[in-house]
Amino acid sequence: MGLFDFLSRKKRSSVSRFPLYTKGGVCDVCGQSLSSKEAFSVPNKDFYASKQYLEFYTKTSEDLIYLVRNSQQGASKLSDKAIAESLLLAQQSQDKSEGSAVCINCIHMFR
Ligand SMILES: [Zn+2]
Repeated sequence: MGLFDFLSRKKRSSVSRFPLYTKGGVCDVCGQSLSSKEAFSVPNKDFYASKQYLEFYTKTSEDLIYLVRNSQQGASKLSDKAIAESLLLAQQSQDKSEGSAVCINCIHMFR
């Protein structure tokens, strides 16, 4: 067992309250392929409740937030975070999956 394996194993044991996700596809957070990575299945209630994910989503969805701010009435005065939060709420209400796939690089946002 190499040092990297040891470290990732150590890391995994401290973050894996969620079950392993083995179906492949892409990470629901960063969009990277899961084929060669370890991933976890995060239930939607935990996924959408994460403040760290909200921060990440706010930073990585600037274009979408800009679009909403300029196309929806009353949105011009809202903060990026408030708009991101409402986008995630809308996404959650339409999300019929049991959980989200989250790769080893992103799982730190979900505890
Ligand atoms: Zn990821």
